[in-house]
Amino acid sequence: MERLIRVREDRGMRGVFWLSIDGVDHPATLNLVPRRTVYGERLVNVEGREYRIWDPFRSKLAAALLKGLRGMPFGPGDAVLYLGAASGTTSSHVSDVVGPGGLVYCVEFAPRPMRDLLRVCNQRPNMVPLLEDARHPERYRIFVNRVDAIYCDLAQPNQAEIMADNAVMFLKDGGWAMLAIKARSVDVTERPSKVYEREVRVLRGRGFDVLQVLRLEPYAIDHAIAIAIYGR
Ligand code: SAM
Repeated sequence: MERLIRVREDRGMRGVFWLSIDGVDHPATLNLVPRRTVYGERLVNVEGREYRIWDPFRSKLAAALLKGLRGMPFGPGDAVLYLGAASGTTSSHVSDVVGPGGLVYCVEFAPRPMRDLLRVCNQRPNMVPLLEDARHPERYRIFVNRVDAIYCDLAQPNQAEIMADNAVMFLKDGGWAMLAIKARSVDVTERPSKVYEREVRVLRGRGFDVLQVLRLEPYAIDHAIAIAIYGR
């Protein structure tokens, strides 16, 4: 059966698209590498352009879009430092958003996901893989220039501090940061809302102005994303 598909670029977030398929809205990005998928996501062609449907159950950034994210911290042409890239699911969509004129530095310290990530980076010229530990930004300082935004998804207890240490070294003043918070990774005994409040306090104490905290249920249980601006 012929399906009715409409596409529109998000009004406030350049590089983010909404595909309405039979009346249901899906976030999507324009595929930088046509006919290639990264994690089995659906590809949709509309008027000669190929879009990748962005799965909110696989990517917390897509979940944030569906939960009311007001502004994407990066857009076409930007440089992004991505901490905790794993096998490239979300960072590949970031790569689509920043496009051929942008850059995504992908830090990941585990060799297994790095193997998959390397395959993704080989296909995408704007992704730079770094097999490094995000707790030691000084070790990759020579490879990374100043960035417009940091996306941090390490699922580690002290990741707000780790993101702040990276911001000191790489994030431009007024740059944006996003911290994905997995409540149980920070403190299994504490209520998630308390954990989010504590992480936000850490960010404020380290010079971030926190603009939004989005809870990601039902896409990711006991997860939230904090969106912040650095050093204004
Ligand atoms: N952001 C990914 C996505 O949406 O596609 C998922 C990231 S997964 C929740 C967290 C990743 O962070 C894991 O692959 C883990 O190996 C990595 N990680 C944890 N601590 C790290 C560190 N100190 N340095 C670099 N990578 C780290």
